[in-house]
Amino acid sequence: MAIQTHTETDAQVSSMLSRRDFLAFCSLMAGALALPKSSEELISKALASKARVPVVWLELQDCAGCSEAFLRSSAPTAAEVVLDILSVDYHETIMAASGKRAEEAKEATIAAGGYLLVVEGSISLDEDNGYCCIGGKSSVQLLEEAAKNAIAIVAVGNCASFGGLPKANPNPTNAVGVMDLIKDKPVLNIPGCPMNPVNLTATVVHFLTFGALPEMDALHRPMFAFGHLIHDNCERRGHFTAGEFVREWGDEGHRLGYCLYKMGCKGPMTYHNCPSVRFNEGTNWPIGAGHPCIGCSEPGFWDLETYTPIELAKFTPPEQYPGIVPPEREITPLGAAITGGTLGVVVGAAGAFAYDMMTRQAGNEQKTEDAKLGPDEHGDQK
Ligand code: SF4
Repeated sequence: MAIQTHTETDAQVSSMLSRRDFLAFCSLMAGALALPKSSEELISKALASKARVPVVWLELQDCAGCSEAFLRSSAPTAAEVVLDILSVDYHETIMAASGKRAEEAKEATIAAGGYLLVVEGSISLDEDNGYCCIGGKSSVQLLEEAAKNAIAIVAVGNCASFGGLPKANPNPTNAVGVMDLIKDKPVLNIPGCPMNPVNLTATVVHFLTFGALPEMDALHRPMFAFGHLIHDNCERRGHFTAGEFVREWGDEGHRLGYCLYKMGCKGPMTYHNCPSVRFNEGTNWPIGAGHPCIGCSEPGFWDLETYTPIELAKFTPPEQYPGIVPPEREITPLGAAITGGTLGVVVGAAGAFAYDMMTRQAGNEQKTEDAKLGPDEHGDQK
């Protein structure tokens, strides 16, 4: 199916974004997609020559957090994205039309085909109990209708990707993600709670530049954004390796920016580009602000017992692992308190280092297994 585009006059386009801003935007997108600098020209040519992509944006069992993230994105701004790249024909939160007119706009776009379907929120399979009905239609009906003529589907946020918060135990609405229902269309997931709008924009830019969705992992997440563990790029990683951990909220280690692993951080098992893209114009991100990663880009994150402290003493290096030399600098009282004396520091650092190696290895093995197996029918890793 050919992509349906909406065209603008040159005057309209130039009034939306200056040339300098446009080139800066192309540069940002090339960086987000992890493409070489030479691809900036390719992106700028593709975006300058192509018209806007029509979008139908469904909100199902959601909190509108991903819409909020999209509307408050600042680099690029939502206005730049909406006016220059996308033509959002239907979005309950931002469209001017309402009621019958809004539904007519959606139906007209669906009938014309060739649009991108963005889905925010999970889908309730418990249709008999009337969960998530809009205009008398169930979320299953709404999704299937909108998916029918879409060229591709982008599920934004953990809810649309994997069921998210509505799917948390005991999953009262029998919630699922988009890929659990739609099997005959390309589905790309941009999980997160909320999703990072830079990743949505970069996906659309890739789609326009190369005519295809970006390379995905076994959970349908774009590799450019979900190809690495948060732990591998975390600014607190040095403290993890040195065995320097926050032990209590507000303690000295917390003030000094130590590793949050002991406070339940899920960075070692979570794939996301948060550490590099960050939020609010790259100002900060949860770990930067002193909060552990909650694993919001992984299936079932709400049931991960995020705030359960980890017992560091349980981590001991394997027997064949080479001995670890403790850091030469002075051991702080905090470090000593963590591990119970000098010997404890050595064991603690060794454990941390061994765990560091194990998570890398486990992460790689898990990815290999995931690639072989793919997600199960609920989007969970097998
Ligand atoms: S455990 Fe969390 S805070 Fe510590 S280095 Fe890893 S990602 Fe960063």
